[in-house]
Amino acid sequence: MTTTPQLGLADNYGRVATDLRVSLTDRCNLRCTYCMPEEGLDWLAKPELLTDDEIVRLVSVAVTHLGVDEIRFTGGEPLLRRGLVGIVDRTTNLLPRPQVSLTTNGIGLARQAEALRAAGLDRVNVSLDTVRQDTFEQLTRRDRLKDVLAGLAAAHAAGLAPVKVNAVLMRGVNDDQAPELLQFCLDHGYELRFIEQMPLDAQHGWDRSTMITADEILEKLSDRFGLEPTDAATRGSAPAESFTVHGGPQTVGIIASVTRPFCGDCDRVRLTADGQVRDCLFARTESDLRTALRGGASDEELADRWRTAMRGKLPGHGIADPSFLQPARPMSAIGG
Ligand code: SAM
Ligand code: SF4
Repeated sequence: MTTTPQLGLADNYGRVATDLRVSLTDRCNLRCTYCMPEEGLDWLAKPELLTDDEIVRLVSVAVTHLGVDEIRFTGGEPLLRRGLVGIVDRTTNLLPRPQVSLTTNGIGLARQAEALRAAGLDRVNVSLDTVRQDTFEQLTRRDRLKDVLAGLAAAHAAGLAPVKVNAVLMRGVNDDQAPELLQFCLDHGYELRFIEQMPLDAQHGWDRSTMITADEILEKLSDRFGLEPTDAATRGSAPAESFTVHGGPQTVGIIASVTRPFCGDCDRVRLTADGQVRDCLFARTESDLRTALRGGASDEELADRWRTAMRGKLPGHGIADPSFLQPARPMSAIGG
């Protein structure tokens, strides 16, 4: 009897990861309060970071040996990575050609959107939690709202459609601004998704009792906007619950990672900027690919190590469990 070789990134719970999030840097030019402390963090030293060639090599192993068909570059702030356009270009030239997207705070996107589009970037998610100047400064500790808005407009003009906007609501800071943020996105043709705040901030300040839940977000929006759930069957492994606004076609999404976890449908895997595989945002262990890569491992060996790394993926993040412990790395160093 012959056995079928296990080719993809399967775990022990029947899930197969096909969506790879690659962190290109742990550095950032904002200091969002739900992510980083004011003074920043101890950044990874340059020799620890994967080079552009090393990133493309690992991405290529994922695409050509492990069935990964979606690559999202993130960080930290990926636009700070000098080789970004080249990395995107080389990734979109892989066969089979993966979908390639970017999650960014938008600062500098006005300058780079055209080049990224020309390199084959398919889509972009820009994080924007408020359209008010004072709230932006309070939340990000930087006066850069104008740059983000310019980045969004440039992405739209460059045809990186649909431009998605990610927003986190913080109680007492911007939770009263959900309707105006949605209106702003509707007016500009951006697709807004609210993300429940998760316990991934470096300061460990997250508190379930004060976080804004998906139910609250819906309640805040429903006064002003007629929201109807879109067909759940089309959701698949996508984490956002989607709602049409005033009958559509425009939609708003809510990613209820905490109150309605979607771990059972998870198809994600992450690679940190220093070459560690993480099978989950909340994983407390990582698997080192950098040492093997630098030690001369073949593509097949790297693929084998990656498959082994995925088998330990837990069935769920366990945030609601009293024994839950936040991972050592904060969101900015994992790659959100
Ligand atoms: N710097 C880029 C940005 O802000 O889009 C990419 C990295 S950032 C870590 C990726 C996403 O994670 C952003 O949309 C951000 O809002 C989100 N994020 C960061 N910390 C979070 C937290 N504690 N809970 C929920 N989302 C968070
Ligand atoms: Fe930087 Fe993104 Fe974290 Fe904000 S959420 S501090 S922009 S990495």
